[in-house]
Amino acid sequence: MQKIKIFDSTLRDGAQAEGISFSAEDKLAVVQYLDNFGVDYIEGGNPASNPKDCEFFERAKQLELKTSKLVAFTSTHKVGGDPSKDMSLNAVLQAGTEYVSVFGKSWDIHVTEILNATLEQNLDIIQSTINYLTKKGKKVFFDAEHYFDGYKANPEYALKTLEVAKNAGAVALVLCDTNGATFPFETEETVKRVVELFGDLEIGIHTHNDIGLAVANAISAVRSGATHVQGTCGGFGERCGNMDL
Ligand SMILES: [Zn+2]
Repeated sequence: MQKIKIFDSTLRDGAQAEGISFSAEDKLAVVQYLDNFGVDYIEGGNPASNPKDCEFFERAKQLELKTSKLVAFTSTHKVGGDPSKDMSLNAVLQAGTEYVSVFGKSWDIHVTEILNATLEQNLDIIQSTINYLTKKGKKVFFDAEHYFDGYKANPEYALKTLEVAKNAGAVALVLCDTNGATFPFETEETVKRVVELFGDLEIGIHTHNDIGLAVANAISAVRSGATHVQGTCGGFGERCGNMDL
């Protein structure tokens, strides 16, 4: 029996829910609670996004956690930029966590239409972001945004983003159903393929609940070999919420 790692994103994705606003104080209290409960990873927020998250990570350095590892969240650096001069990446280094989640694009149309980059440029920034953080001693989780839609549209490219992340040193590949509209049978197939190719790494699942299947999709992913499950307490999150841990 494989041990499943639990990754709690209440303080990051959960904080996107309407009506939720955590102070740094609130976040520290939630971390203590989750640590006592025994979750493996706690995503604390994006230190570059607001001063509250910055303050939280600063104060969290004093916590002595028994079971949980704190994770800071960031995106890949800007196209054409230099990772060492990137404000978000440096904020994440400043946050001082051992683990960092890096989200990047794996759906071709989002690369060309939203990032306004070429497919090759997106692979480059995934590579240089993860490589930069890994060299600084961070353990990096690659959050493949819109992975399931991306895999449907262009499976070769979606898989290529994972391969690049792995080669750059990522320790986990997290497949995100960012739109929350994937069916469990699709999840099963899609995750199975990733586990076959990259199963030597931790394969994670991050699902949203737009069609009410976030939990079902996470279960399907685990059945297909995923060993890392992301969600939030009570399913709090943007729109219809995240997978309810
Ligand atoms: Zn999410």
